[in-house]
Amino acid sequence: MNVPVKIALAKGRILEEALPLFERVGLGPIESPATSRKLTLNTESGKARLVVIRGADVPTYVQFGAAQLGIVGKDVLLEHGGGDLAELLDLGFATCRLVVAEPVSIAERDDPVYRQRLRIATKYPNITRRHFAAKGVQAQIIKLYGSMELAPLMGLSDRIVDLADTGGTLAANDLVEVESIVDVSARLIANLAALRMQSGPLEQVIQSIQNAVHKNGR
Ligand code: ADP
Ligand code: MG
Repeated sequence: MNVPVKIALAKGRILEEALPLFERVGLGPIESPATSRKLTLNTESGKARLVVIRGADVPTYVQFGAAQLGIVGKDVLLEHGGGDLAELLDLGFATCRLVVAEPVSIAERDDPVYRQRLRIATKYPNITRRHFAAKGVQAQIIKLYGSMELAPLMGLSDRIVDLADTGGTLAANDLVEVESIVDVSARLIANLAALRMQSGPLEQVIQSIQNAVHKNGR
């Protein structure tokens, strides 16, 4: 019996949307992650073990080979940056966009002087720095860990860089989208060294996930 392939999964939305997909191809967990306190879960086929961790930790586990595969949002992947990772597949769920937004009141005023040096609150300092540097806009980045929508309302920042889906949360906080930075969805990533080993079990699990995505009607 082969050692199971370890798949690091971001808990929350990604895990919830990945599970029904995995169940269709024998990669569903034997125990429910909702009720089990275990952080690693064996799967029905025994070919993989699921490791459920914070999204931001998924690229790290995969980069260092602690997990051969990972499922994580493109937002988290871009923020993490390169490093011994291969992006194998767009899984097509957890779709949203990373956007720049500002208060409606300021968008209406549109004062160019005010825009010379922006203060931007975000959970994504690396993506934000790259984005504004590429545009030649001076930006002071304020790192937050959640509830970015609050920052402009509280006078902490001029703008935010955050995820938006329908824009409902932005609108509810009197914010409007200024521009879209990138389209986001869940991605399958792999450790580069593990891929190069061309291990049969790893390739089988990747194939299973690919089949699951196709069965999902894509
Ligand atoms: P957390 O906010 O605790 O990091 P979430 O489950 O809210 O966890 O988000 C995890 C991932 O799901 C994000 O990194 C992103 O890729 C995706 N995501 C977040 N918000 C949305 C959304 N509104 N619509 C679709 N996907 C989203
Ligand atoms: Mg969230």
